Amino acid sequence: MMKAVVLPGDESVTVRDLPTPEPGFGDVLIKVKASAVCGSDMSVLRGNQLVGERQEFPVPGHEVTGTVEKLGPGVTGISAGDRVAVYLAVGCLRCEYCLEGYVMLCSRLQTIGFDLQGGDAEYISIPAYNCMPLHSGLSFEEGAVSTDMFGTQFSIQQRLGVSGADTVLVSGLGPMGSAAVATAKANGARVFAVDPVAHRRELALHLGADEVFESVDSGITDLGLSRGRGGPDVIIECSGNGRAQESALNIVRPLGRVALVGENANLTINPSGQLLRKLTTVVGSWYFPRWQFSHIQEFLIERKVPVGEIISHRMPLDDAAKAFEMLVNRSAEKIIFQP
Ligand SMILES: [Zn+2]
Ligand SMILES: [Zn+2]
Repeated sequence: MMKAVVLPGDESVTVRDLPTPEPGFGDVLIKVKASAVCGSDMSVLRGNQLVGERQEFPVPGHEVTGTVEKLGPGVTGISAGDRVAVYLAVGCLRCEYCLEGYVMLCSRLQTIGFDLQGGDAEYISIPAYNCMPLHSGLSFEEGAVSTDMFGTQFSIQQRLGVSGADTVLVSGLGPMGSAAVATAKANGARVFAVDPVAHRRELALHLGADEVFESVDSGITDLGLSRGRGGPDVIIECSGNGRAQESALNIVRPLGRVALVGENANLTINPSGQLLRKLTTVVGSWYFPRWQFSHIQEFLIERKVPVGEIISHRMPLDDAAKAFEMLVNRSAEKIIFQP
């Protein structure tokens, strides 16, 4: 048996004993060392499934690292004791998207920590494909936040071509926005960050933001941010707040780029004013292709990105109820379970 966090879907949190998974054909059993709590876990907590179908005993956790404990039949190229990070998306591995490494776009997508057992447990069994070698230059907890947080940010900033020529505005400074700030700084950009919460702005300054603001209305366009171009070159919107998304489309400069990272199901836009006549590029962002993880790790290590600084709390699995309570009342930023 093993200890696992189970979220029945009625906002309650339980820690219970579940059978330790037996790795099936092609699977690998991982002994979990670090599993980060993510804002998207709220969907499991509340029973509003974000991706796929509910598990029988929903165990969250999709930002996970650990060591290989046991190999299922047919697995080669991985050894017991290897340090690994977990890739969230499980796909068919035969369609065009899977073959390009964009498994999260597979029509048969399943996701670890949502519709498959997650890492808030002592063990997790995953397909060998989903075991990504963890670089010796990253600790287990740094590796966990290098998946969804820094991995997503590295990937989207590559797609947007963020460089030293850019001013980047990061909107929403939860853990994802914090990772955006540190990644944009490491990409050489001039970085501005917006959040109404003071301690989040403090952290953004610590992570390399050049200036911080309470809201996009508090004089951003007057502060030389635009270098005479009429607005930021790039906006990375991480809050998912409709008004913030609207502001991003309004204040980005002509020919600017906007990435929508924060989840939101509805937004009314003004295509003529916000997109057409400004020639705006708007991209959606979710996670990263499987092949990119080695690039992500090398970037974080070589550019000395302060990855661990976004972690605010470390807890044992037994404190899961407290951890999710802190997530709900926003008294914690990034919590890591250390089973
Ligand atoms: Zn996440
Ligand atoms: Zn596929």
